[in-house]
Amino acid sequence: MKLIDGMHIAKKIENSIAEEIKHLQGRQPGLAFLRIGEDPSSKVYIQIKKKKCAQVGILSFDRELPADVSKEEVIETLEALNQDPLIDGILMQLPLPPHLSAFSLIEHILPSKDVDGFHPVNMGKLLLGESDGFVPCTPQGIHRLLIDSNISIEGKHVVIVGRSNIVGKPLAALLSQKKPFCNATVTLAHSKSNNLSSLCKEADILIAAIGNPHFITKEMVKKGAVVIDVGINKGPSGLIGDVDFEEVAPLCSYITPVPGGVGPMTVALLLANTLQAYKIKKTRKF
Ligand code: NAP
Repeated sequence: MKLIDGMHIAKKIENSIAEEIKHLQGRQPGLAFLRIGEDPSSKVYIQIKKKKCAQVGILSFDRELPADVSKEEVIETLEALNQDPLIDGILMQLPLPPHLSAFSLIEHILPSKDVDGFHPVNMGKLLLGESDGFVPCTPQGIHRLLIDSNISIEGKHVVIVGRSNIVGKPLAALLSQKKPFCNATVTLAHSKSNNLSSLCKEADILIAAIGNPHFITKEMVKKGAVVIDVGINKGPSGLIGDVDFEEVAPLCSYITPVPGGVGPMTVALLLANTLQAYKIKKTRKF
């Protein structure tokens, strides 16, 4: 069994981004963080991302709105960020307070600043196989983990458990593209899937994005499979994944740990998308 070291692969990506930014002419790339409300996890995630931005040379801009803000006020804030020439990317930290719908607000971010890749234009480009949109960070991070670990994807049966708009669905679209390093046969499973355990056991590459600690057990994993654990759950003594690592790892050819697997990649690909946004803006000259 080989452990996929997400920290190490993320660091390599960050180093190459830092190197590229060091040689840019003119201003530094800028990323705006919009936080709505006081969700403690959102505050922590923003701090982590801002620290990484500073390390690679991306400027952070903070916008904070109260939990009871109206939809109209959020849209005004997003439009101001859209117009700001120093801001290349806009990240609206999720989850939002319950009265706000994330996906109806994301539509108000310019697709060219949507570094999360959640805007319908970017999601549509991904589905169509167009390469000039932003690909959501976690799916892109998982793809890079597989490629960097020399794990062949083409022709493989990938089973993804979880069909969220931010992980499962875009990941299924990405891995099934008719392109090199893709071409997987993808099964997208969810809470209504029949025979989930036997579906998972057919996977050459099993990806768990469920949000249920230790949901994937050894009975669900084929010998020699690659297992990617996206889950981040609060355990009694730290973060735990969706995969029961202790019992599943001995069966796998490769497996990601939690923490230190997919998580660091998500942040690294956010930085990469921000640099991409900066470059798009430079060529568009607006
Ligand atoms: P989500 O929106 O809650 O989606 C969870 C998915 O899991 C849904 O599609 C749901 O099915 C499915 N599911 C739930 N219970 C199931 C069951 N018993 N059997 C089969 N499928 C089941 O979650 P998410 O935002 O995708 O996040 C998933 C996990 O990944 C969470 O732990 C989250 O913290 C973590 N995450 C990590 C990163 C990272 O960077 N590492 C990034 C994003 C998310 P239905 O659609 O039928 O309800």
